[in-house]
Amino acid sequence: MATDRSLLLQQIETVVGKVGLLRADQLAGRSAGIWSGSALKALALVRPASTAEVSAVMKLCHAARQVVVPAGGMTGLAGGHESCDADIVLSSERLNRIESLDTHSRCMTVQAGVILQTVQQAADAAGLLFALDLGARASCTIGGNIATNAGGVRVLRFGMMREQVLGLEVVLADGSIVSSMFSVLKNNAGYDLRQMFVGSEGTLGIVTRAILRLHEAPLAVETALLAVPSWKQVMALLRYFDAALPGALAAYEVLWRDFYRLNTGPHSSVDAPLATEAPYYVLLDVFISDSEHGRAKLETLLTALLERGDISDGALGSSERERARFWQIRENFEPEQRRYDKIYGYDVSLPLEAMETYVDEVRSRLLQCFADAELFAYGHIGDGNLHFSIYPGAGRERDVVDDIVYQPLQALHGSVSAEHGIGIEKKAYLGYTRSAGEIELMRKTRRMMDPHNILNPGKIFDY
Ligand SMILES: Cc1cc2nc3c(=O)[nH]c(=O)nc-3n(C[C@H](O)[C@H](O)[C@H](O)COP(=O)(O)OP(=O)(O)OC[C@H]3O[C@@H](n4cnc5c(N)ncnc54)[C@H](O)[C@@H]3O)c2cc1C
Repeated sequence: MATDRSLLLQQIETVVGKVGLLRADQLAGRSAGIWSGSALKALALVRPASTAEVSAVMKLCHAARQVVVPAGGMTGLAGGHESCDADIVLSSERLNRIESLDTHSRCMTVQAGVILQTVQQAADAAGLLFALDLGARASCTIGGNIATNAGGVRVLRFGMMREQVLGLEVVLADGSIVSSMFSVLKNNAGYDLRQMFVGSEGTLGIVTRAILRLHEAPLAVETALLAVPSWKQVMALLRYFDAALPGALAAYEVLWRDFYRLNTGPHSSVDAPLATEAPYYVLLDVFISDSEHGRAKLETLLTALLERGDISDGALGSSERERARFWQIRENFEPEQRRYDKIYGYDVSLPLEAMETYVDEVRSRLLQCFADAELFAYGHIGDGNLHFSIYPGAGRERDVVDDIVYQPLQALHGSVSAEHGIGIEKKAYLGYTRSAGEIELMRKTRRMMDPHNILNPGKIFDY
């Protein structure tokens, strides 16, 4: 068996060259992910530089029944890129070229390993906008964004990654290449197979290239941070801003008091911009595209809200630096890491009307189980997407916490994964959100496309 694997690695090396193959003993210093303190486990890390190379590698692995785990920036939060010692990790790090940018059709053709921030910057340089944006922008890849159907902070205005993908090229488990590299917005010619790969977490195919949709860039972005006295007002303000600034509200994030305190407290490098204490803080971005939706209008709206008592305090970012400071309160996870030895992240969605009660219920059940537990709530609330960071107390594992968080979602018709995917972390809870019929169809699809179960096995559901 060992000889079979060394022969396989030799064959792979003839495809990708020495630079494209790092064997297990060459992986020192490679970590298993940006959140992971442990070293990458793999038989080898394979780094193809073209679709043809990915295809040739997969043909060899298919023939050898070799497990392959696709990996991008390894910023995923559901364990989808996790591997073990016998796996080949297929990294997109050398698939890192922007092939073209078309300002008329407003689209960009990229290889899967291009970093999200690089795509954003290239669009910006052409006076356009790539709409996906999230905290891991400097490390995550377009292929990973597609494989997880990433969400982030602009979903309210532009939709998820699914909506940003015009064309797609993938390599299947047997090495065959499926290309749907169209840049047209409308394409109703039969099944839209492209969408099947979006959100498939590397279990149906390896994304190699994509054509991404671009939008007109706003003239400017304004950011406001508001202290809000009640959940009712949090919900009302979302509609208020959307109605008062049609099409301009581009982010609506909510931080619960404990999260705001942690991220502006002694463990954080950011001071609290608002002196007033409130149960909720809303962080919003407004795209300024014309004078009608200008900064003055936003100022007028905020003054009116303050006078009516719908907000108890508020600040409008006065410079790019201040805007970035507001966003740092939302996106900085260093205070958590400094304060707690272990903290578990959650990513769920549910109707807004149920959210306040749900958070209170989760917190109280948690404290009933573990008196020293701590819960921090925040999220892309404009999309109904809530995140928790939960410290269960010293030495406690996450199983009990998982039950507390996920169990109530069934009755609320919520999702156990709003945007991070299922990976391995939420496998046991997939049935809370997907029906038995749906899971069976997913399983049949996967078996048909990957009959030897070599592509990211054990992820999402059992084969
Ligand atoms: C600080 C921080 C903030 C984050 N914020 C958000 C957020 O707001 N919204 C959000 O949705 N996510 C967020 N994430 C999660 C993560 O960044 C996204 O899931 C991202 O899309 C993963 O991209 P990646 O390149 O790192 O993929 P990886 O982590 O490498 O992989 C993720 C999954 O995709 C598969 N995969 C990777 N590349 C390919 C490929 N080319 N073909 C097929 N499958 C592939 C892997 O097998 C795995 O299952 C955040 C993460 C961090 C660390």
